[in-house]
Amino acid sequence: MPGDIHVDQIGLNHQFKPELLAPAGNMDKCRIALLYGADAIYCAGKDFSLRGFTHNLSSEQLAEALFFAHIHRKKIYVAVNVFARQADLKELPAYLEYLQHLSVDALIISDPGVLLLARRHAPRIPVHLSTQANTTNSLSMTFWRDQGVSRINLARELSFSELAEIAESANREQIEIEVFVHGAMCMSYSGRCLISAYLNRRSANSGYCTQPCRWSYRLVEEKRPGEFFPVVEDHRGTFIFNSKDLCLVEHIAELSALGISSFKIEGRMKGALYLASVTQTYRRAIDNCFKESGTTDCSLHLFEDLLKVSHRPYTKGLLFDDPAAPANTEGEIDYVRTHTLAGIVRVLPESVVPASFFIEARSTLKPGQVLEFIFPDGSCRSHVLDQIEDMAGNILPQAHPNSWIKCPAKIPAFPSQVVRTHAGRQQSLT
Ligand code: SF4
Repeated sequence: MPGDIHVDQIGLNHQFKPELLAPAGNMDKCRIALLYGADAIYCAGKDFSLRGFTHNLSSEQLAEALFFAHIHRKKIYVAVNVFARQADLKELPAYLEYLQHLSVDALIISDPGVLLLARRHAPRIPVHLSTQANTTNSLSMTFWRDQGVSRINLARELSFSELAEIAESANREQIEIEVFVHGAMCMSYSGRCLISAYLNRRSANSGYCTQPCRWSYRLVEEKRPGEFFPVVEDHRGTFIFNSKDLCLVEHIAELSALGISSFKIEGRMKGALYLASVTQTYRRAIDNCFKESGTTDCSLHLFEDLLKVSHRPYTKGLLFDDPAAPANTEGEIDYVRTHTLAGIVRVLPESVVPASFFIEARSTLKPGQVLEFIFPDGSCRSHVLDQIEDMAGNILPQAHPNSWIKCPAKIPAFPSQVVRTHAGRQQSLT
């Protein structure tokens, strides 16, 4: 970690604060991402998105999410990043017109055919180019700008010096660029891979990737059946399988100094605990840099919450050299999981005892369990669950996932607040 450096030492333009862009796979997550500090969220309707098996939002939910975002002066970008087949072309125009009618803040597109349709049927909505288009150089960026794209999500495969060069052109040509700062890494060029389609019949190209590149593999020599050789990597690098998770929280100031418009968090399929913890951490990291006395504050407390979400070992990806972790893959790595989602705070009805509220349990909760209420400013309040009562006041031996329980705690909780607990043996349903 570089320690605290004053931001003026790295040439940060204080007039140009980048946006924090968070994923939202369903309505609940839209609220959570916005309440925990995202400036904008990206989500998808039921069709034409590359994350086909997240819950996604119905047309009515999309309208509700937009209302919620806009009254909080925040934005919603809608992914229409399917690689369209002939049949899609017939249905896309009506969908694009509907999105324009709703006044979504941008469309995220990767297919040139869909872009053409968007220019015809939703000309007032800005278009952002998806990471699936794999933009790796400034001329590609200019090409897409000339096709009417206003923002480009650059490929995660770039080095920092390549990113800096592209960012300089982008600033000159007034194109917005967006980079991923956190989340799962794809071991191929984002999504251009057939492992999931081959092993699970769920194609990454259609948004159904089951991430089988993260499973553990063995090598078998044809004439030695039953002898399994581990596929591992040493410090010289064998770059196959088991990618780690990207985490650039300690480089936010350097990336901001390049004039990048938006920092994007990966993970429309990730759970509420991930979303709340990661969003509030990056919110604080960006705000720290842009304070009057800003520093590139990357002391341990910024990492604390990132370490409490289920994750693979973290990496700086391909942007920054990390001598402590020379490659982005390892042989035998597993998810690190110390905490789990205990539940989400629901309505605060006046009829309930003052200072009590409901929690929708997402794990099995038992009396004596310590709940940690996470706040958007990064603070956390603990509460021991003395007894468990259902909504009618009946005392229960335990709370089952998806049930609502009363929580008589003197904590300034708010609807959609995320509550975590130590992982123990509970089964989270995130
Ligand atoms: S299986 Fe892995 S490499 Fe292939 S698309 Fe999915 S995440 Fe990417």
